[in-house]
Amino acid sequence: MAIERTFSIVKPDAVSKNKIGAIYSRFEEAGLKVIAAKMLHLTQEQAEGFYAEHSERPFFGALVEFMTSGPIMVQVLEGENAVLAHRDILGATNPAEAADGTIRADFANSIDENAAHGSDSIESAAREVAYFFSPEELCPRTR
Ligand code: UDP
Repeated sequence: MAIERTFSIVKPDAVSKNKIGAIYSRFEEAGLKVIAAKMLHLTQEQAEGFYAEHSERPFFGALVEFMTSGPIMVQVLEGENAVLAHRDILGATNPAEAADGTIRADFANSIDENAAHGSDSIESAAREVAYFFSPEELCPRTR
């Protein structure tokens, strides 16, 4: 299986509920390694740029407002089939439809405030990692 990298966000709702560690535990239990991480409070410009593909959607304004409402954690995860593995443990966008035991089933408030983000493809992952991290900030494991 391929070793991949994916991009992940612990969103403001989960940070405010003090669930950073609980969500990181889910990554580690799934065999995903954190190879870069930092806390940020997004500006409106950063949030709009990150979610630019949704700019015509009706929820865009509320999404930007939510994503700038408090600090977030951004991280790069590495592991076998990391993109899909991460999406699997995240669960469906709407927590009401998310499988039991997934991050969104356990920690999300609603489809708007859904605890975490995960890249949906290798291509998105590369773009999203580069949006928040310089190559020097990535720390692949050496042991
Ligand atoms: N979103 C929302 N309302 C909706 C659909 C999506 O606020 O009706 C937000 C939600 O935070 C979601 C993000 O927009 O995580 C991106 O939506 P997407 O469909 O790409 O879902 P994801 O890939 O995050 O599961």
